[in-house]
Amino acid sequence: MRAAVLEEHGEPLSIEDVDAPDPDPEGAVVEVEACGVCRSDWHGWQGDWGWLDLETQPGQILGHEPAGRVVAVGDEVESVSEGDHVAVPFNLGDGVCPRCQRGHSNICENVMPLGFVEQAQGAFAEQLHVPTADHNLVELPDGVSSVDMAGLGCRFMTSFHALAHRADIGAGDWVSIHGCGGVGLSAVHIADALGANVVAVDLTDDKLEKARELGAVEGVNADDVEDVPGEVQSITDGGAQVSMDALGIATTCQNSVLSLDAHGQHVQVGLTTQDEQGMVHLPTDAMTMQEIEFIGSLGMPPTRYDEIFRMVSTGKLEPEKVVSETIGLEDVSDKLAAMTDYGTVGIPVIDDF
Ligand SMILES: [Zn+2]
Ligand SMILES: [Zn+2]
Repeated sequence: MRAAVLEEHGEPLSIEDVDAPDPDPEGAVVEVEACGVCRSDWHGWQGDWGWLDLETQPGQILGHEPAGRVVAVGDEVESVSEGDHVAVPFNLGDGVCPRCQRGHSNICENVMPLGFVEQAQGAFAEQLHVPTADHNLVELPDGVSSVDMAGLGCRFMTSFHALAHRADIGAGDWVSIHGCGGVGLSAVHIADALGANVVAVDLTDDKLEKARELGAVEGVNADDVEDVPGEVQSITDGGAQVSMDALGIATTCQNSVLSLDAHGQHVQVGLTTQDEQGMVHLPTDAMTMQEIEFIGSLGMPPTRYDEIFRMVSTGKLEPEKVVSETIGLEDVSDKLAAMTDYGTVGIPVIDDF
């Protein structure tokens, strides 16, 4: 099968013919019909996240936002059959640890991030193997296509879990979203659908314009204002009730926390870069005195995907609005390279393998 293989960090992926996977007894093989390309792939391509034990190794196939058809299942698989139209979560769980048993397989004790580790080769390929298929595969309802699902990707799932499950958003709350890449734009759209007033913050006007299309009532260009949190405080008349760092650099994390009103909730969704390596200075005294919460949020448990599917099927959420273009497998390296300078708006989706 054709696959885009990582040979060296930061160098173009190599399009190769590699062996197609066979299913483990509990696994399944999915023929990929669509897969999104996002900033997490860029981090994997750069070799980031060694501090999380997620530095990719040569030979890795990236790609963690697939949807497609099951073409083979192992002998012990019970609930998945050949021909099923499925999504594959980007944090694969083992299905048996206490966290998975409680429905939190997004933070499984033995979590396998798809496309980042050798045991979970990714979906920049014609086919991929999904371990523990009964637990991990999610059947797509009618009306959600593979490209829709790839458009939802990790960004909608991550933002939805962060805003709908982890934070407590009320109607009319101010929500500021710092960073308007894929996850940030999805967060704008979801916060709007949940009834919030959204302030979008980014460095580029075209991303802010996209954020307005998706429901933001105000946009702040961080390049044009000296004091980003001050600007958000002023727009929101005292600070946001909920704020998200959707990028994961020190500046956006700090700006997000400083944008909050008393009792505000900061939700950290972006994972950091080589510059921070997971450590960011925060105004802890001010956070204590204002009773501000710092909430981590990772992915979304697949057992709750149906909530988002219902909002897609009724048109309350429109994932296709963040899909910028459909591309071929051989175009992925160019898209990754363009992300280095934040040169992409919205999400490219591979639909031609
Ligand atoms: Zn588990
Ligand atoms: Zn992603």
